[in-house]
Amino acid sequence: MAQPYSALSTEEIKGKLEKFYQLYKIYQGEDLKLDMSRGKPCTQQLDLSMGMYKVLEDTRDFFSEDGFDCRNYGILDGVPEAKRLFGELMGVPEEQLFIGGNSSLNLMYDALAKFMLLGNARSERPWCREEKVKFICPVPGYDRHFGICEELGIEMINVDMLPDGPDMDAVEALVAQDASIKGMWSVPMYSNPEGTTYSAETVRRLAAMKPAAPDFVLMWDNAYMVHHLEKERRDSLPNILDVCAEYGSEDMPLVFTSTSKISLPGSGLAIMAGSRRTMAYMKKRILAQTIGPDKINQLRHVRFFKDVDGIMAHMEKHAAIIRPKFELVDTMLHRHLDGREIGRWSRPYGGYFVSFFTLDGCAKRVEQLCGDCGVKLTAVGATYPYGKDPHDANIRIAPTYPSLEELQKAMEIFCLAVKIASLEQAARERLAA
Ligand code: PMP
Repeated sequence: MAQPYSALSTEEIKGKLEKFYQLYKIYQGEDLKLDMSRGKPCTQQLDLSMGMYKVLEDTRDFFSEDGFDCRNYGILDGVPEAKRLFGELMGVPEEQLFIGGNSSLNLMYDALAKFMLLGNARSERPWCREEKVKFICPVPGYDRHFGICEELGIEMINVDMLPDGPDMDAVEALVAQDASIKGMWSVPMYSNPEGTTYSAETVRRLAAMKPAAPDFVLMWDNAYMVHHLEKERRDSLPNILDVCAEYGSEDMPLVFTSTSKISLPGSGLAIMAGSRRTMAYMKKRILAQTIGPDKINQLRHVRFFKDVDGIMAHMEKHAAIIRPKFELVDTMLHRHLDGREIGRWSRPYGGYFVSFFTLDGCAKRVEQLCGDCGVKLTAVGATYPYGKDPHDANIRIAPTYPSLEELQKAMEIFCLAVKIASLEQAARERLAA
């Protein structure tokens, strides 16, 4: 069993560093180009959905089930069969859905831009007329959520992620006392990057919140709702709209998902849902913005997947491809780091990421060491608002895109970088002592 690095003598630290620098130099000479930076499906996963392009070509039937010619203008919120399919998948009545373009992130940006410019269904005035607008951001979290807030001038407040979701004591206290807090981000299932699924109790407490802002919005980004890795289902998430209805807060959540990592990122379908009141308001605004989305893509998706069982069977094929990659990451981290007390990491049962924590103050150095060896990681800090990780500790590992061989090499280098960065820090501490 390896010793904790903190228990090593100064001589032992020096000796190990020497040895690891030599190994590092060998890797550096290999001229590698490995990318673990973004949660992208690999080519084999993308190939699973190519049949989607055949179904319409074969039949050349472009009519929706109510006889609408989907090649033409019209239908704002989705063709009936697509609304039925995704309504069933998300557990939302069809009339409370909006099937938009190709990106849920785009729908989220657009929703918040609308609230800034016009307010939402419960606002007294547009948010841009408020002196300050703030959002609660569970951390670590999804960099692009934080990017939207930064772009729109919404001030972000960090709240820690705990094993069962955001720290609800902190969230409840914040929203109750500060009316400038207009909303909160959440990735409630297999969160990015932690892989955490909110517990039923967390969901209940979110639904029961009493925000000081009357137009508070719970941004419920359920991007990974069917992205299970294991056959045995350990994580489950209550339906936020149903739970909110029990507390009379059904106008608070705005629910998002997309088929980006079911079919094809960039060529999928994005979906928004909310209460009747919320969606009536949103659709009215969207009516001024567009004549309608790509309905042919909706037909393509419905005819390819057919029903919810079809989507679930398809997701099992994705899982079969990426599960070994998550297992490899976990195995390598255990093999190289166990006992040394220089890092901890998540072991998600779904989603696209592993969240790794170095010792405080080491993450940037790990990123640099990996980068100089040709291993690209998500920029350190990106998992926190304004790109600032207060502990310089969190690193998001995205294992899906590289091949197993590439991933193995990348993780060897990653583990070596974690060891070097931790030993360098230990050496510095000894010098300072
Ligand atoms: N939300 C989360 C939590 C994500 O991780 C991602 C993709 N990385 C997205 C949204 C983006 O989804 P889309 O492709 O639908 O814009």
